[in-house]
Order: sequence, then structure tokens, then C-alpha cells
Amino acid sequence: MYPNPIQEFIARFASLPSIGPRQASRLAFHLLKKSTGELQDYANVILALHQDLNVCAECFYVSGGKDKNCEICNDPERDQSVICVVEKETDTAAIEKTGRFKGLYHILGGTISKLEPESYKKLRVKELFERIKTSQKEKTPVKEAILALNPTPEGDMTALYLERVLKATGVKITRLGRGLPSGADMEFADEETLGEALDSRKEMKTK
Ligand SMILES: [Zn+2]
Repeated sequence: MYPNPIQEFIARFASLPSIGPRQASRLAFHLLKKSTGELQDYANVILALHQDLNVCAECFYVSGGKDKNCEICNDPERDQSVICVVEKETDTAAIEKTGRFKGLYHILGGTISKLEPESYKKLRVKELFERIKTSQKEKTPVKEAILALNPTPEGDMTALYLERVLKATGVKITRLGRGLPSGADMEFADEETLGEALDSRKEMKTK
């Protein structure tokens, strides 16, 4: 159908989130018209993702340069007693945009999926548990964990699992309140709705 370089481009890019084979082919033909210098610029920004960035040792968000911790964890003005648990990095960015949260984050790295029974093992739950436990021996212990997970079956399952695990730490466990429609992805919610859901968070109390 297409010459090899285009086929390989499509196979590679179609594996990215939100890009299917059709979008990947369109991208290939769009980039084909660019100069070699411009294509080099694209290649450079992709490579820079690994050269100039790190994963925060504390919350697993991205940190620039050689910093061990991200800007949020390093900020002394942030409230260390509240941790907002999110599925992915872009959720942290969405909550930051609301300007209504001044605590810290923890990026789980996914949710529990019914189709993948082992999926819970890939989440950074042990790291979260240890982080809370360690804080309890320090000056500013974590007092609340906000489970800012999407109102989807996966988000619900993950929240219930986290609640069960975190119960042993004794911290207050809350979940986002009203506003986010069922099935929504908070990444795409407007700032007002997400801020409102944060402000109206409710304590989880299952037996
Ligand atoms: Zn961090």
C-alpha cells in the first residue's frame, strides 16, 4: 500500500493515545511536506522528553532538569498534610489549573481495569501507603487523601481498593463531590466544575 517508511511511521504513531491508523497516516503525509530541518526539530523535542525531564521521586509527576523532586513537592508554600491522588499527570495539570488546590499530589499511573485482573499491581499504591506512613513520623503528617479519580467504573473500583488499603494509615479519605458527570474524564472538565467537585469532596465511609 504505502512505502515502508510511511508504514513504519503509521505503525509507531498509531500506538499513541488518541491516535488511530487514520490520524497517523494523515500526520505522515503532513510531515512529508516539511523540510529536513523542521523534521529534526520534531525529533529533538521528542528526545528532549528523556534528556531534560525526570520523574519526581515523591509524587511521580514530571520534574525538570536534574531535580529529584518536582516543583510542586519542592514548594514550601504547599500544604503537606493533603495528598490528592490522581490517575495520570494530565489530571494533576487539570487540578492545578483550577487554582483551588494547594496540597500535594500522588500519581497512581493508571486505574484498576476489569479486563486486566492484575492491573492493580501496576499502580503506585505501595508507594502512596509508604509515603503516608513516613509522613506520620515527621513534622507535617498527611491528614487527608483526596481520591481524585474519574467517575467511571474503573475510577470507582480503584477508589474502593485504595480506601481499603489506606484505611490502615488512619488518614481521612475523601472523594471528589458533585459536578463531574458520571463517565466523565476530569482532564476535559472545565475549571469551574472541577474546582467545585474538589471543594465539595466527601469522606468515603464504607464498612
Ligand atoms: Zn512531586
